[in-house]
Amino acid sequence: MPEAEKSTMSLLENAKSHLKDLVAFDTTSRYTNRPLIDHMAAFLREYGIEPVILLDETGEKANLIARIGPADVPGVVLSGHTDVVPALEKGWTSPPFDLTERDGKLYGRGSCDMKGFAACVMAMVPQLVAAKLERPVWLCFSHDEEVGCLGAPAIAEWLAKREVPPMLAIIGEPTDMKLVTGQKGKIAMRCHVHGTSGHSSFAPDHVNAIDNAARIIAMIAERAGEIAENGPFDHDFTVPHSTMLATMISGGVATNVTPDLCSFTFEIRSLPTHDARAELEFLKTRVNSEILPKMQEKCAETGIEWEEIFAYPAMGDNTASEGFAFFRDIMPEWSGKVSYGSEGGVFETIGGIPSVIVGPGSIRQAHKPDEFVEVEQLSLCLAFLGKLAAKISEPA
Ligand SMILES: [Zn+2]
Repeated sequence: MPEAEKSTMSLLENAKSHLKDLVAFDTTSRYTNRPLIDHMAAFLREYGIEPVILLDETGEKANLIARIGPADVPGVVLSGHTDVVPALEKGWTSPPFDLTERDGKLYGRGSCDMKGFAACVMAMVPQLVAAKLERPVWLCFSHDEEVGCLGAPAIAEWLAKREVPPMLAIIGEPTDMKLVTGQKGKIAMRCHVHGTSGHSSFAPDHVNAIDNAARIIAMIAERAGEIAENGPFDHDFTVPHSTMLATMISGGVATNVTPDLCSFTFEIRSLPTHDARAELEFLKTRVNSEILPKMQEKCAETGIEWEEIFAYPAMGDNTASEGFAFFRDIMPEWSGKVSYGSEGGVFETIGGIPSVIVGPGSIRQAHKPDEFVEVEQLSLCLAFLGKLAAKISEPA
């Protein structure tokens, strides 16, 4: 819809219209997000804002950064990811990439996680441009959050290099428009155990890759149990400690062949106060001293290979920061800390920008068929963004 027509619509209708446009782009992480980013960029240019586009090395993926307001004072980041998880599940009652309204809910892939937030931000742009902002708003939209926060680091690095970097980042992941002040970090790993194969009737001569993978997995599970019992703990999280578990496994070729390869994936999901890297090193050290020597005693060519799939940092509690203090009086009710990933940890760790999560919709509706966001949630988000705009505007 042309922007001129949108100007006569209410803010909420405007946000809904933007959301319909955004959902129509199939930005499943494995596809390019560039058409969506081009769409956002064209929209911003209509308001005289020239966005910065950061391409990844393939050129298929893009981040968008745009500043509204002065550059010489610290401002606030509104951050969202543009990619969505696949919509291949059965159980969609309406087409996933065609936003459909039923009973006060807007159904579509990404409606909740997290194009709803992006749509609200876009609906606010005319108002932000027209306002006399004393501090800037940085609009940041990334690629590939769902597959390990791959886009956000480039945005965080870019922001950190500004002469006056932002003082707070608000990540619009679904929190029912409550304030979330922490998020766990994650390292996703793949481990390949290389043994030797042969007829299983000669099993003692071989190094069984599955047996040894099982030993490593047992070690992971044992350590997870120790962490669950001894901490560290942070009871603001629903699961108040770090977790560690195997998640996928494959190996073997036949019932009567000793397997020479077993691969499995595992993850460490860590509290902000728990060093996941040190935990991973601890595991590797144990494996190298307790499992690997026995394998290599039998055959020197056997081994264990570790492959990092992705990692993103945890987001700590930033409520003591100056940036947060400035916006404290407009922040919604606090609801705790979350175990799912967000780009908050990236902004905080790589960009040095204190971060919090506040966004429309519920994480319970994300990553599922018939994903939806309640219209009411978009209203609350728009009201929040309105307060934020007023907070950084000159009194009229
Ligand atoms: Zn998300």
